[in-house]
This record gives sequence, C-alpha cells and structure tokens, in this order.
Amino acid sequence: SQHAAVDVAIIGAGPSGAVAAALLRKAGHSVLVLERQHFPRFSIGESLLPQSMAYLEEADMLQAVVEAGFQYKNGAHFVHGGKTASYDFRDKHSKGWGTTYQVERAKFDDILIRRAAEQGADVRFGHAVNAIQTGEAPQLEVADEAGNTYTVRARFVLDASGFGRVLPRLLELETPTRMPTRAAIFTHVRDGLPAGSTDRNKICIAVHPERRDVWYWMIPLADGRSSVGCVAEASFFDVTETEREAKLRELIRVEPTLCELIGDAPFLMPVRHIGGYSANVERLYGPGYALLGNAGEFLDPVFSSGVTIALRSAHLAVETLKRQLRGEAVDWLADYDRPLRRGIDTFRAFVDRWYTGELQDIIFYPHQTPTIRRMISAVLAGYAWDETNPYVADPVRRLNSLHEACKAM
Ligand code: FAD
Repeated sequence: SQHAAVDVAIIGAGPSGAVAAALLRKAGHSVLVLERQHFPRFSIGESLLPQSMAYLEEADMLQAVVEAGFQYKNGAHFVHGGKTASYDFRDKHSKGWGTTYQVERAKFDDILIRRAAEQGADVRFGHAVNAIQTGEAPQLEVADEAGNTYTVRARFVLDASGFGRVLPRLLELETPTRMPTRAAIFTHVRDGLPAGSTDRNKICIAVHPERRDVWYWMIPLADGRSSVGCVAEASFFDVTETEREAKLRELIRVEPTLCELIGDAPFLMPVRHIGGYSANVERLYGPGYALLGNAGEFLDPVFSSGVTIALRSAHLAVETLKRQLRGEAVDWLADYDRPLRRGIDTFRAFVDRWYTGELQDIIFYPHQTPTIRRMISAVLAGYAWDETNPYVADPVRRLNSLHEACKAM
C-alpha cells in the first residue's frame, strides 16, 4: 500500500489547490495534491479578474500563463436593449493589475498545476479523497482508479475540491445560502468577432430584454471562439437535455447584441447545464483543515469573481498555515475566515443589487462621475478587499445611496 506522510495534503488540483501548493513549496513545505480527475479537464469559469494576476505572480505562474496566448482582457461591457456601459479595468480606484485574460479552463488549470508540480508538489491524478479524520494530525482516505485505497497523514489539510465540496459534505459543514437557486446553460461557439477586434477584450454581460434577473455572458476566447451562456432561476431552464440547445438558441435570438455576434454560428460542444452552485459553510476552517475557493463559499457568477476569490483564499490560507507550521499560534477566524469574507461580502452587496436591478441602474447611468466610476471599476476588477475604496469599506450603504442619486437625476 502507498501510505504517505506530508506537511500539507490538498484535495483538488483546480486554481486554488494549484496556487496553494506552489506557495507552500516556495516556503519549503512538502505538499501532496490529490485530484480525482485527469487533466486537462473541462471547467466553467473562463473570465478572470485583474486582481487574480497578483496571486499568479506570487506563485510563479504568471509567465507560463502569459506565454500560453490566452485572450487578453481589460474590462466588462454591459448591454440591456439599447443601453450600453463599458468599464475599462485599467481606469480604476485601486492599485495593481488592470488587465488579465479570458481562458479556456482546461488549458489554464493544467498550466497552473504543472507549475505547482515543477516547484516540487507531488500531484496524483485519478486519486479521490473519500474520508477524513480531522484533528491535530489529520488523515485522509484516498482511492485510486484501480480501487486501491490508502491513508495520507498530514500536518494540515486544505480542501480545494471546488463544487465537489468534499469536507463540507463529509463533515456536514454546509449552511443554507440566501441566494435563490439559479442555474446556467452554456456552450462554446465560433463567434463573429474578428481577431484583433477590441470587442474581444471585454466580457459582454447582456440583460434579458424582458427579465432583469436573467442575464447572458459572452466571453471571447483565443482562436475565434467564445463561451456563451445564460443564467436564470432554475425553473427558467426547465427543459430536457435534448431541448437545451434549442433553448439557448432561442435565448440568443431574442437578445439583439448576442444575436448579431453569434447568430446561427455552430455550437462547438453540447450545451451544458449547471445548477445549485451557490453554497456556504458556517466556518472556513476546523481542526487540522481549512476550505479554499468554491469548497467554501460560492455566490454567483455574474461578476466573474470565482477564480479571484479562490486564489485570494489560497494566498490568505497559506500565509496563516506557514506561521502555524513554524509553531506560531494562529487564529484561523481572525487571520483567514474573516479577512477572506470581507471581499466576498463586497461582491455579495453587488450581486444582490444586480438581481434587484439597482446595480443595473447604477451601471447604465450615463452621468456617473469619473471618481465613482473608478471605484465601481475597481470592484468589478476584483479589488474587493481594498478598504480605501468606499464601495469596499461600506458597500451596502454606499450602493444604496448611489442608487438613490442615480434614480433622482
Ligand atoms: P475547481 O476549479 O472546481 O477545482 C476543484 C477540483 O477538485 C476539481 O478538479 C475536482 O475534480 C477536484 N475534486 C473534487 N472532488 C474531489 C475528491 N473527492 N478528491 C479529489 N479531488 C476532487 N469564475 C471566474 O473566475 N470567472 C468566470 O467567468 C466564472 N464563470 C462561472 C460561471 C458559472 C455558470 C459558474 C457556476 C461558475 C463560474 N465561475 C467563474 C466560478 C469558477 O468556476 C470557480 O469559482 C472556480 O473554478 C473555483 O476554483 P477552485 O479551485 O475552488 O475549484
């Protein structure tokens, strides 16, 4: 049998697991990553935010990402009928990167985990974690594809299993999320945007002509393809698997901008469906473990914040864990859970008001002052933890009064 003893065992090789692995290796710790699937594998979540670049840089992954030739991204473009609003992330309140990429996740995630392996992480594909014993010396039960099971002893476990939510399920940590149950249907298309067109450089978010709580994304990728999808309350997509393609086609047809850019272009893969993805837990840590990225909390895809929160969580957890492994007393609530949730709460204030329509009024308001635009732009670029931004320090009150001001004009 293949017992293993390591400093840190990581469940899942997605972006949060890969970045955590690399950062721990840089600090000299032994790391074992257990990944159920084989890479490259499909994942949704293709539009990055500029804030994520800092963590790729810190994990020595940025050069490999830049050299992969992904689609350059510098902002977000919103449309609703005849109304449009463009945010350029280089023009923002917060310091830091203003540009990033739109990535095919199969390739992006593969690059990240390879970089972690090159830095000395032991990565095992086709190995699934099935059980945990928590505590000061946590143990994982692992099964490989041949059906062999073995035990991993670690000084600490990081759960980076994304929507697999391994520890929340095994330890019954899940709490209800306030978010309504929404779902998405999506595919890749060959789009009508010429190579080099500046429209490729922004994610396009379109609001459904009749329902403000229904929206679409179009994320141009490299090679003339785009990711396109629609998000709505789950009942909106109450169609069988074989009817999904027709449903997405129909939705594209009624939205003028997407209709023009996509029209009848061929779908390059079967239309996929994902639902019930919003989730939360009471605490992002426990005896001998912490939860990263989507394994902890996931809100909503509208602001493309998922990977950014995942990488921020890896950075914050590793900072805390490095001190713990050195023998220092750490406080996971004060050092990890609360600081991470500050930014998640910023996004939550924005997401809530997106679905009520208030944030849409703000975004499409034509007379916003440059200062306020730059503050909103910073949050949309992922700088949701920068407390010098009033829309981060006090997002609920600020957005509410800004909405009042936009309505009154
Ligand atoms: P993941 O990337 O999900 O990786 C988890 C890994 O763990 C997987 O490889 C899985 O195989 C592995 N695993 C699971 N169970 C086990 C087990 N038992 N043992 C071993 N391994 C296991 N985010 C963005 O940033 N931009 C976007 O544009 C965006 N769009 C989205 C659109 C939709 C419709 C949805 C639902 C989400 C979107 N997201 C987006 C969110 C994004 O997909 C996630 O936030 C991101 O992938 C989280 O990364 P992660 O590292 O936490 O987990």
